[in-house]
Amino acid sequence: MNIILLGPPGAGKGTQAARLIERHGMRQLSTGDMLRAAVAAQTPVGLEAKAVMERGELVSDAIVSALIGDELTAMGPDVGAIFDGYPRTAAQAEALDAILAQHGRALDHVIELEVDEDALVERITGRFTCATCGKGYHDTFERPLAEGTCDRCGSHSFKRRPDDNEDTVRTRMAEYRAKTAPILPGYDARGIVSRIDGMAPIDAVTDAIERVLAGA
Ligand code: ADP
Ligand code: ADP
Ligand code: ZN
Repeated sequence: MNIILLGPPGAGKGTQAARLIERHGMRQLSTGDMLRAAVAAQTPVGLEAKAVMERGELVSDAIVSALIGDELTAMGPDVGAIFDGYPRTAAQAEALDAILAQHGRALDHVIELEVDEDALVERITGRFTCATCGKGYHDTFERPLAEGTCDRCGSHSFKRRPDDNEDTVRTRMAEYRAKTAPILPGYDARGIVSRIDGMAPIDAVTDAIERVLAGA
């Protein structure tokens, strides 16, 4: 199974991908996570991407498509792939088709999380993650069960992304509208898009995605 989770920043792609991984043993391919790792490791890709990401603009198509290609090559052929935050432009959508074909894979579903833009700023500015295991949380919507302790690994250390501020979020939303939303009609023409209400509670969104994957 190969699926794309599509939606603007804060739509819930990473949150839902984490749940699908736990339930189905699929693998998440998040270009955002790969780029943040490259920035932290100060690789040539990271050095090039850092300032672009801080502005909320898109990193070059060639860089992100190369990251995805490398990751798929490293994965076993029978592991399902969840593309999170990729593709984000028409050129990336084309590159993904070529990469999938090279690996003998085909897209099963494009799942669009539909959200109200006003809610996204609140989601993004309240987002934080465990600094040890990466589990995602929210100040209001998904707090740790025990205050200050990660549910999954027990760590007491959390972090926030430098680009999760209101100014940058507005730029990221504009990038989504201008460059990412236009790739949907191409997938619509292939009959593989499912639209899900991303404003529903986290569990309800997961249930709706499960129904799509089950073909219901
Ligand atoms: P994305 O990967 O699409 O940018 P995330 O999955 O990181 O988005 O979600 C952004 C923030 O919103 C996180 O803090 C997450 O806990 C929270 N969140 C995700 N889905 C929902 C939801 N359905 N309702 C309320 N908050 C949510
Ligand atoms: P979001 O929470 O907005 O979905 P991501 O973690 O997916 O955030 O992306 C963070 C930043 O990394 C983006 O604002 C962009 O600068 C860069 N980025 C991630 N994926 C891509 C991509 N597929 N193409 C171009 N830039 C990307
Ligand atoms: Zn943790």
